[in-house]
Amino acid sequence: MQLENFDVVVVGAGFFGAVIAEQVANKLGRSVCVLDRRLHIGGNAYSELDSDSGVEVHRYGTHIFHTNSETVWRYLQRFTHFTDYRHRVFTVANGRVYAMPINLATVCAAFGRIMSPDEARAVIAAEAAAHGASGRHGASGIGNLEDKAIASVGRTLYDLLIRGYTQKQWQTDPRELSADIIGRLPVRFTFDDRYFADRYEGMPVDGYTAIFRRMLEHPKIAVELGVDYFDVADRINPHQLVIYTGPIDRFFGYTCGHLGWRTVDFAREVHDVADFQGAAVINYADAEVPFTRIHEFRHLHPERAHAQARTTIYREYSRFAGRTDEPYYPINTGSDRAMLASYHAMTAAHPNVIFGGRLGSYKYLDMHQAIGAALKTFEHEVAPFFVREGMQPSDAAARRAALSALSA
Ligand code: FAD
Ligand code: UDP
Repeated sequence: MQLENFDVVVVGAGFFGAVIAEQVANKLGRSVCVLDRRLHIGGNAYSELDSDSGVEVHRYGTHIFHTNSETVWRYLQRFTHFTDYRHRVFTVANGRVYAMPINLATVCAAFGRIMSPDEARAVIAAEAAAHGASGRHGASGIGNLEDKAIASVGRTLYDLLIRGYTQKQWQTDPRELSADIIGRLPVRFTFDDRYFADRYEGMPVDGYTAIFRRMLEHPKIAVELGVDYFDVADRINPHQLVIYTGPIDRFFGYTCGHLGWRTVDFAREVHDVADFQGAAVINYADAEVPFTRIHEFRHLHPERAHAQARTTIYREYSRFAGRTDEPYYPINTGSDRAMLASYHAMTAAHPNVIFGGRLGSYKYLDMHQAIGAALKTFEHEVAPFFVREGMQPSDAAARRAALSALSA
């Protein structure tokens, strides 16, 4: 691999990196080398056939595509068709099963009686008011996850479905967690039990990895797997454009410290039954159950004729990420945010590097957000590099000037 011969080096073959590589090759006709330290393309969206069951599994956990963005949806149609899969999740708590996210069916089941939407609202509002009178005076103040959750679903549903699950997922007192985390989960006073409410939703007909293969299949794109950027960084011409989608703290040698992440472990099991649990994802809310959820991937593709009466499941366990673990969810405490600001300040010394994606920006991004951000980064930061009059890929001075003009 002659890294120095490429106009652009992309670190990471996940959605952010693959979209930029595809755009650079197709729209600018420039050469790109995509590196990934893993042995496969696709980043965390990678999917593969399980050799024991023949079921397509998502190695890093169930990925459902959903978006409200017309631009992202249209863009992806170039690389895949989507099925009409609609995600529904159930939660096991205290020996019973409930619909999740919380909707009218969940409220009726939790209180053991039929309620109209207004009755359910009134019951929850009364519990929220009682908490408002007694709560919100703790050391952590207003705006923590517990207060926000009780304000939206009341004490009964919070204790039943949220408290234990959140404690397992974050190993942190919900009163110390940011309210934003729970903001991702809607609460509905109808019987609509869809997990996502976005306009577009579906599963790629032939899997996620096929999308990446099509994005990266281009004579101007080379893909090098099993290569860690930091093992080859000294071979990179300082005038090349680098798109870095790895962890931002690692890029700077952790000089300001390690940003906090949660990671998950998946325990794989193959069962000799055609259907293990009846749904793609079932959450386990009780604090005593050690895993947070069970994924059963065959339910993601009900349209497929699975030849074998076997199924693969993953039990998911959540914990703090150690230094060698895969970073999954940014914890984002106040000290993490301060550290991130210091790293941002340090990026100015690297005008030929663009930081992006989930790890590079230290943000929880869904796939459509990573794709949307990559399309914008291409348009506003990558393309201007090369379209400026008279500018050559090796013209470092012009590149720096272009970059400072862009960031001004
Ligand atoms: P990634 O996919 O993480 O890709 C980054 C790549 O960079 C990785 O392959 C990594 O190996 C590589 N890399 C890092 N450092 C180096 C280095 N030094 N050298 C070389 N390569 C390097 N989104 C949804 O829309 N729907 C879902 O249902 C959904 N479910 C999720 C479930 C889980 C458990 C998780 C963790 C995420 C989920 N997501 C979901 C989010 C989705 O995974 C991300 O939006 C997407 O992966 C972001 O793409 P990315 O390119 O930014 O990062
Ligand atoms: N959550 C919960 N019970 C559930 C599902 C989610 O308490 O059954 C809470 C939990 O705090 C979680 C947050 O809602 O961190 C966001 O859930 P989401 O489904 O977005 O988590 P993800 O799919 O990203 O793991």
